[in-house]
Amino acid sequence: MDKVIIFDTTMRDGEQSPGATMNADDKLEIGAQLERLGVDVIEAGFPANSQYEIDAVARVAQEVRSPIICALARAVPGDIDAAWEALKQAARARIHVFLSTSDIHMMHMLHKNKEEIMNMAVNGVKRAKSHCDDVEFSPMDATRTDPQYLYELLEATIQAGATTVNIPDTVGYATPEEFEKLIRSVFENVPSIHKAVVSVHCHNDLGLAVANSLAAVRAGARQVEGCINGLGERAGNASLEEVIMVLKTRADYFGVDTNIDTRQLIRTSRLVSDITGLVVQPNKSIVGANAFRHESGIHQDGILKERTTYEIMDPKDVGLTGTTVYLGKTSGRAGFRSKIKELGYELGDDEFTKVYNSFKDLANKKKVVTDRDLEALVADEMRVVDEAYKLEQIQVVCGEPGVPTASVRLRTPDDTIISAAAIGDGPVDAVYKAISQLLSIPNVLEEFSVKSITESTEALGEVTIRIRSGDQTYTGRGTSTDIIVASAKAYINAINRLVSVKKREAVSQ
Ligand code: MN
Repeated sequence: MDKVIIFDTTMRDGEQSPGATMNADDKLEIGAQLERLGVDVIEAGFPANSQYEIDAVARVAQEVRSPIICALARAVPGDIDAAWEALKQAARARIHVFLSTSDIHMMHMLHKNKEEIMNMAVNGVKRAKSHCDDVEFSPMDATRTDPQYLYELLEATIQAGATTVNIPDTVGYATPEEFEKLIRSVFENVPSIHKAVVSVHCHNDLGLAVANSLAAVRAGARQVEGCINGLGERAGNASLEEVIMVLKTRADYFGVDTNIDTRQLIRTSRLVSDITGLVVQPNKSIVGANAFRHESGIHQDGILKERTTYEIMDPKDVGLTGTTVYLGKTSGRAGFRSKIKELGYELGDDEFTKVYNSFKDLANKKKVVTDRDLEALVADEMRVVDEAYKLEQIQVVCGEPGVPTASVRLRTPDDTIISAAAIGDGPVDAVYKAISQLLSIPNVLEEFSVKSITESTEALGEVTIRIRSGDQTYTGRGTSTDIIVASAKAYINAINRLVSVKKREAVSQ
């Protein structure tokens, strides 16, 4: 079957969602998961933004080796060179050059005429081509660009060396029929079009991003760009998990295939949600908590008799196993190791021992340990590896009436123990105040969210917080059966990220 290339831009367009800032560690974690998911191309960032962004994209390029790693650049030499600087260590690199081409953008934003824009596009592609073979060109705001001009631009950029040409519906204005027609007309009017892959990049302002992307596939587009959980600028990009599952579920209709391991979808969605702090709505297609839940009696009855009566997809196909690990406190390392492998983790001996020990702790507190719990444990332990400050002890007193009081003991990077106590409006506030006293690193708590990882009162709680220091935000996460402990861990995790970024900035200055 014909393959559709899946191009993930969660770390570039997705990062443009308000509040979804990712640091280099986040990008590495998401990149590794996207590799497991099997996406073909990862757009890891916009290196012209800052030296920090160059370094973050470079780390993804160095460590995520199977997919093509792509970086975005405006059609100006500085951007293109910054993209290459970030990508040069990638196993396979792609530079993505973009330029506005609609009258409205050219007139109001670029103050250039069509000929000047054409030259910039061609020169941009040529410069990218001087760095690497794989070059993508995007005429921004293509759906509001004069079609004749669009064909000429695509022809010129393909002749200049573009191997993928992307048609973005930047403002989310198109409808499926129109967009399908536009893509067909591109095939009919651009003589060299068969030398390049035709890609689409749709936005969801009118809720049509997925529908438009699929209409384009019908018309012959063979790359779809989008984000996990439909993140992205404004109302977001096409939701990749939806595009992928439509192509799989309705292969009879579309007749195309992808390289995706769909069983990784749920985990990828959760990771992106955890890292960005942007929660997935329960009724979201494919990855929402209710997407495979049946409430009405008639539906439940049908499902019990024959799953396909009310289910068009098998929950297992998106990674919703619901399986529990029947490992208790007495179970051995070997069984645990094979379970961890089965979940797709490669852990070094030290990491494995840490995860195994925290699993034993958890098994003492909680009767049933699920796959989801294990994912959280692994994520929690991986976060601790290089941490500067460590939580040694925490104690909280609260109740009604009474004044919430917390005492906290931390181990510093140079191995001394420091401790402090504080009172607050509530137990979490008291914990934060005690930690702030100890660290005296100025920061503002911007966001705090807690959720339970599985159902029941003994579930693991996961806390995500976001702190701001200067103009940078840092996300921290922590997991525990005790949400106060999870909160403290999350705060220290965020502080450690702040400290490591500050250290890196000090080195590079
Ligand atoms: Mn976009």
